[in-house]
Amino acid sequence: MSTIADNLGALAARIDSAAQACARDPASIQLLAVSKTKPAAAVREAYAAGIRHVGENYLQEALAKQEELTDLPLTWHFIGPIQSNKTRAIAEHFDWVHSVDRLKIAQRLSEQRPAGLPPLNICLQVNVSGEDSKSGCAAAELPALAAAVAALPGLRLRGLMAIPEPSDERAEQEAAFARLRTLQEGLGLGLDTLSMGMSHDLEAAIAQGATWVRIGTALFGARDYGRA
Ligand SMILES: *Cc1c(COP(=O)(O)O)cnc(C)c1O
Repeated sequence: MSTIADNLGALAARIDSAAQACARDPASIQLLAVSKTKPAAAVREAYAAGIRHVGENYLQEALAKQEELTDLPLTWHFIGPIQSNKTRAIAEHFDWVHSVDRLKIAQRLSEQRPAGLPPLNICLQVNVSGEDSKSGCAAAELPALAAAVAALPGLRLRGLMAIPEPSDERAEQEAAFARLRTLQEGLGLGLDTLSMGMSHDLEAAIAQGATWVRIGTALFGARDYGRA
């Protein structure tokens, strides 16, 4: 069985060659380790291998892991769906939120961000695949949402995030990521962040300008939801 350090080495090589293929500096692409369903011990192992940024989808699970890992200088990113009653704990315990898709949630995060902490880094999640079932704001609603979020004092709007409909076709993968990049450029807000690309499509995301790739399976191995 490969270790997390082995997996990280392989991922770094994938990121490097994807960056080279489009003449990007590999250092402009950051790796977010997505540890949902994985134990704190796996995050500790990832830290030892060089990981510094961790993404979690479920609040209770994330808080429990944070408790076990207080000795590590990790930066925590919330990347899952957000219910209103969870905003206070998210505002208190995370440095980034990638999955904001409506103003009410952004307003609560801003109000509830503790005064002693820097503004919470925010990505707006956009639905780039047009499926009704997926979360993310509609492209048409994005300019108004982005302008409103950019004005909130407790938040720092950094960019956009998407989870496109899975595809094995490189051209389809890139088309979805290109939509996100075009939307970001169209906002004209000087945003520096595109959170896009997962284990199966990080090359396409990097080709279209990803600055964070969010990687679970390729780093920690397959998830077993039955035991989570
Ligand atoms: C689970 C998850 C990931 C990681 O997915 P993998 O395919 O395991 O790399 C990335 N982003 C979000 C929002 C996720 O929920």
